Amino acid sequence: MTEKLYYIDSFCKEFDARVLACEAADGYFEIQLDRTAFFPEGGGQFGDSGTLGGVEVFDTKEKGGEIRHYARAPLAVGDTVHGVLDFAKRFRRMQCHSGEHIISGLIHSLYGFDNVGFHLGEEDVTIDINGVLTDADLRRVEALANEAVAKDLPVRAWFPSAEDAAALPYRAKLTITEGLRLVEFPGYDICACCAPHVKTGGQIGVIKLLDFANYKGGVRIHMLCGEMAREDYHGRYTAVKKISELLSAKQCEVAEAVERLKGENESHIREIGALKKALAESMAASAAETSGNLLLFAPQLDAVSLRTLVNNALPKCGGICAAFSGSDGAYNFCMASKTVNLKEKAKAIGEALHGRGGGSPEMICGSLAANRAEIEAYLQ
Ligand SMILES: [Zn+2]
Repeated sequence: MTEKLYYIDSFCKEFDARVLACEAADGYFEIQLDRTAFFPEGGGQFGDSGTLGGVEVFDTKEKGGEIRHYARAPLAVGDTVHGVLDFAKRFRRMQCHSGEHIISGLIHSLYGFDNVGFHLGEEDVTIDINGVLTDADLRRVEALANEAVAKDLPVRAWFPSAEDAAALPYRAKLTITEGLRLVEFPGYDICACCAPHVKTGGQIGVIKLLDFANYKGGVRIHMLCGEMAREDYHGRYTAVKKISELLSAKQCEVAEAVERLKGENESHIREIGALKKALAESMAASAAETSGNLLLFAPQLDAVSLRTLVNNALPKCGGICAAFSGSDGAYNFCMASKTVNLKEKAKAIGEALHGRGGGSPEMICGSLAANRAEIEAYLQ
């Protein structure tokens, strides 16, 4: 059984250990040691990474009751190796995990709900609560949680006797009492947990609840603490600063500025639509009458105004009335006729002009990869 140094000192960053086993796996090696500061994945927290004897350890997991270090190269059994943890990563995780305990403890004591799911990812931390909470509830919990941080009380982690455990009101009360480990944030939470935590509440830094949404009859809360919250703040600040400069609006008023811009954009879209319709009507009005096919090229028109153009110009032609928008190699078309069955002709047009489209016997629409000269040669 490997000695768990992370239980003796959660800030243990370097250690020496003897290699007990080294098994080759698919592209990596599973190393077992007589002692380790690498925490294996558990309690919603990923396994640690770092180096052993200079070899990269990319993950740590517990398998069959043994802690396995997943290494990129083998280590000789019996050798003593120096282990170095990626402590910056571990510390961020401890900050978030400890913050989660305080939040879950507060929600439990204030509202009686339980934490039924916890995920501690590289960029996102989520807590699932089995009851509905409002935005105001969560602002209250967040404020109290940060008060707890400011008190900077020592965190206690210990293995209680079965008797002591039975008498304690801890969360996540498991049926097992053997090997049960409790983590206490005095005055806020006692919870069964196998993961390493910060030593005092102040080490968590800020606790920030972000979004929340209804989830399986309760809520899923997104949260960040400490370093992850600071980086997140920087990312959001940079984005808001840029938007504020682009909109010439105060940072706290960018949402209103975007709403105004959206409104302006929608009215521009309506105006452009009306102008395209007027252009189509004007082109149709000025088209010359013909007993054959009538071809009209209007690069700026969209699908709706192309149809308007064709419908308005159709009475002036005895064959196919065809309108095209776009440019050589990429035309959209709309064709109508009172004398030609266009549904039957669509395939031949598509083959001749490298396009596709469809519709009714009276009208077809689609796209063509031909150029104007090819279109005119084929249809005139
Ligand atoms: Zn925990």
